[in-house]
Amino acid sequence: MFDIKSITRKNILDLKPYSSAREEYTGKDAVFLDANENPFNKKHNRYPDPLQIDLKNKISTLKKVVHTQLFLGNGSDEAIDLLFRAFCSPGKDNVIIPDPTYGMYQVCADINDIEVKNVSLTEDFQLDVKSIFKKVNKHTKLIFICTPNNPTSNTFKEEDVLEIIQNFQQGLVVVDEAYIDFAKTNGYVKYISEYKNLVVLQTFSKAWGLAGIRLGMAIADAEIIKILNSIKYPYNVNVLTQKAALDALNEEADKNLWVTLILKEKKKLEKSLQKFPFVGHIFPSDANFLLVKVAKPREIYDFLTNEKIIIRDRSKVHLCLNCLRITIGTEQENLLLLRALEKYAETK
Ligand SMILES: *Cc1c(COP(=O)(O)O)cnc(C)c1O
Repeated sequence: MFDIKSITRKNILDLKPYSSAREEYTGKDAVFLDANENPFNKKHNRYPDPLQIDLKNKISTLKKVVHTQLFLGNGSDEAIDLLFRAFCSPGKDNVIIPDPTYGMYQVCADINDIEVKNVSLTEDFQLDVKSIFKKVNKHTKLIFICTPNNPTSNTFKEEDVLEIIQNFQQGLVVVDEAYIDFAKTNGYVKYISEYKNLVVLQTFSKAWGLAGIRLGMAIADAEIIKILNSIKYPYNVNVLTQKAALDALNEEADKNLWVTLILKEKKKLEKSLQKFPFVGHIFPSDANFLLVKVAKPREIYDFLTNEKIIIRDRSKVHLCLNCLRITIGTEQENLLLLRALEKYAETK
């Protein structure tokens, strides 16, 4: 039986969390003389709800979970960092990170002094389950799985992900679904009640178009969420962010329309890019970006930057030799990219 307490750091289990003034009384109409706020500025003078209950209620309906299975943070990057701080002892524990993938897992590991065991993806960008389990030892606490994966843009096989979740009972499997809205699959939220060692990360930064407000979420068993809540900053999601997210959730149709538009633009861009002689393979994408193999990545990157079109050079990344990563923009932006590439082609 999976027991979250057995993998939680002792200092975290023993922690007496900071108790904020606003946690003791949750009503809205009262004379608030408890938190040393300024009573005159009526705009943003009150501390935010530390547990973001209104927002969570809305999100939990959308995600078909209960609010106790939901953690909200300052981007999903906050959830990643808190997972390290709750479950990995510095200088002792390790985590498994497939390579290549999103860079923040490694950075958070380094900041927290946690050893990283990298496991290469296969040549076709799938998980190498056997090699992952070969690297697991008794100090392994987290396995990160980003699907659809950044920067390779593909979804991992569900049977592989489930095999890892089912057979890694000594720690947590963190499935990062930053790009799930663009994928054909529904993802892993539906499994969180079944698998107590599963943490799903999602974000408002991509499909919802709200990277600027910094809001990410972790969806997992309530026991895991309770631990993350106990170590977060008390007021980690500010009132402006909570308000902006609530507004966005009331306009879910906008998000769905944007996803449709982006997927349509992706198809068009893929077709147009294929016509250039310097473009090689374009990898199948389940995300809002394309990974494109080209003849001279740095030259193209520099040329585009000079044209004030900024893309991402991933050509030095493991398994991504000569690859550029291009985010799908508006129709207009994508046309500007294509026009600039035509100009580059003429210089050849
Ligand atoms: C963009 C991205 C995120 C988003 O992080 P936020 O902190 O929520 O903006 C998370 N994971 C991956 C893999 C990403 O590419």
